[in-house]
Formats: sequence, C-alpha cells, structure tokens
Amino acid sequence: MPAHLRFRRKSFLGLIFLFTLSTSALYFLYSAPGIVNEYMFMVQARGIQIRENVRNIGAQVLEQVVRGAYSLNGTGEQLTDYAYDFNLSDSEVPPPTYLPDDFTFLPSQLCPERLPSMKGRMLVNMSEVSLEEVETSLLEAEPSTAPGGFWKPTDCLPRWKVAILVPFRNRFEHLPILLKHLVPVLQRQRLQFAFYVIEQRGMEPFNRAMLFNVGYKEAMKDEHWDCLIFHDVDHLVENDRNYYGCTHMPRHFAVKLDKYSYMLPYNEFFGGVSGLTVEQFRKINGFPNAFWGWGGEDDDLWNRVQLANLTVSRPPRELGRYMSIQHHHRGEVQFLGRFSLLRHSKERQRVDGLNNLNYSPLVSKRLLYTNISVSLSRNLAPVADY
Ligand code: BGC
Repeated sequence: MPAHLRFRRKSFLGLIFLFTLSTSALYFLYSAPGIVNEYMFMVQARGIQIRENVRNIGAQVLEQVVRGAYSLNGTGEQLTDYAYDFNLSDSEVPPPTYLPDDFTFLPSQLCPERLPSMKGRMLVNMSEVSLEEVETSLLEAEPSTAPGGFWKPTDCLPRWKVAILVPFRNRFEHLPILLKHLVPVLQRQRLQFAFYVIEQRGMEPFNRAMLFNVGYKEAMKDEHWDCLIFHDVDHLVENDRNYYGCTHMPRHFAVKLDKYSYMLPYNEFFGGVSGLTVEQFRKINGFPNAFWGWGGEDDDLWNRVQLANLTVSRPPRELGRYMSIQHHHRGEVQFLGRFSLLRHSKERQRVDGLNNLNYSPLVSKRLLYTNISVSLSRNLAPVADY
C-alpha cells in the first residue's frame, strides 16, 4: 500500500478510536447517573473511615480512662438518638432497654416502641424470588392481611398508621425482595401499615419526588395514615430496631449505606429511606415536582424541612444500617440542573409541591400492595424556570 494511503488508514482508525473513547466517556458521565457520585463518595468514605477508626480508638481509650476515674457503674443506657456509640458492634452495645420476651400485651393499650420481637441485626437475603412465592409465604404467616397488604396488630393498639411509599420503574425483581424482607419487620414492630408502589409510565426521566407526592395523595384516600415512609425499592434495613414509626421531627432512617462504606456521605444527606408525619409533610408542601432525573430531590426535601423550622432526626447509627441491591441504573439520566434548582428551594417551596400537582392514576390492589401507575409530564406540575 502506498505510504499516503497507509497514513490515511492510520488516521481513520485513530479517529474511530477517539470517537469510541469519547462516546464511552460521555456514556459513563451522562447515562450512568450516580456512578460518578457513588464512586467519589466511596473513595471519600474509605478515607474518612480510616481517619474515623483512628479517632474512635483514641476516643475509646479516653472513654475508658475517664469512666475508670469518674464513673460509678461504668455503662450507661443508650436511650436517646445519636448517643455517642463509638462505632461499637451490636454485641458490645450497652444492655438493651427492650421489653422481655414474656411481656404481656393488652389489646386496649398502645403497642410499645421497643418490643421483645425486635431482636437487632438481621440477615439480609437479596436472592431473587418471585412475587407469588412471597405472597404465599407472607399470607400464610399472617392470614389477616387484607388486599393491598393492609396489616395491623391485634394484641395492642398500633402507635402509628404507616403508609410505605415506594417509587418504581423497571425494577420488577427488586420489589419481592423488599416485601419479603420488610413486611415481617413492620409486623414485629407492631405498626399498622400498607405498601403503595407508585410506578412511572411515559418517556420522561424518572421523577422520584413527584411519585411520592402522587403516592401520598392516593394513600390518603384509603385510610387516615399519620406517618409516611418514603422508601427506595433497593434499600434493605439491616436492623429491626430501626423503628419505622414517625417522630416529632422528620426522620432519616438510612443513615449508613453499604454502598458508601457505611458512612453518611454528607450531613444533609436525606436519601434512601426517610419519614415524615402527614402533618409535617403538609407543612412543607410535600416533595418538589421539578426534579426530572436522578438526584437533588432529597436535598430539596432537606431544605424544605429546614425552611419550615424543623430538623431531621436519625436513629443511633448502628440501627440505621442498610444494604442496597446491586443494579445498573437502567437508562435513568442524572439531573444536572439540580444544583441551580437547589439554590431556589425557598421560593419554589410555596409554589411547587402538593399544591401544583395534577395527575390521572391507574390504581389496582394487589395482594401485598396497592399499585399506582401514573404517566408523568412537566405540564402536570407547572412551575416557573429557575
Ligand atoms: C444527589 C442526591 C443523592 C446524593 C447521594 C447527591 O449529589 O443530589 O440526590 O442522594 O448525591 O447519592
């Protein structure tokens, strides 16, 4: 081959190589939302973890010295949220304040929050299972479960009526895993509850927050729920003492995630699993509707909570551990405009949320949950550009 043709062939191949490289890089950055974020958090988390461990060892030594010198009995009970737990493992946690196994329930009395049935760390089984299998086993165990997965305890009065809202698209294999894992936990916690799966139809990017608003509005047509749990379908709680009732302040349940090396990625992180009373949720005008694509809506919820003069409570950190089911973000795009929207949380809070939302759902009752299928588009929740 003449030299000039060889040269052209080489540059052509070079161009193809460059093109493939840049499209892969673009694909990585744009169509795999969260990957970059998650990777950065993991790297950051590992670094923090090493520093934390060194600090904790120091703190524990100091603790022993101080206790040895000043304390009479050495150990205190961990009664409050965020007790300084020194990252102790469960076996080392101070004596539990949970009720004894022979505790007698009274049908006329409120169910306690620290029940003998709540044993602590659980095995998390992420193996795929069919919905039918899960339906059969859960209904056999609790035949009083009504269509839609409505369940309530009969040996005491439930402290909270909890609607568990799960936003959903393209994750059919995750839902049975979540139900199989979480339903028995909620039953052991003696809560009244039902699951609502809100499935997004249509071609728009995923809008997790708007699905929660729809779920809330639909759930309230069924029952006078007083506590709302906003739950990702791929999050599995590791400790059944992480109580799914609400508190006087909005609550963030998923404090430590395995995918972030069990570190809180940042103090304002409010993702994964959170909960608000119906009263708190109304006060903040629900979730924003303006976040199309992955990310930012949970940060905006955090801002809304602060702007309403509320704060976020969290369970003691060992209880807030979660595992997440591994998956590839299937075609969900990262919402790059989230940072500019977040700068205007305050102005948007009044005009974007529960009060500007229209939709037409298809609702059907399944054995273990209510399915709300809804097509979402921007004109359903009109809001000015920010
Ligand atoms: C996003 C949040 C997400 C967090 C952790 C942030 O950049 O805005 O929505 O929960 O990353 O993944």
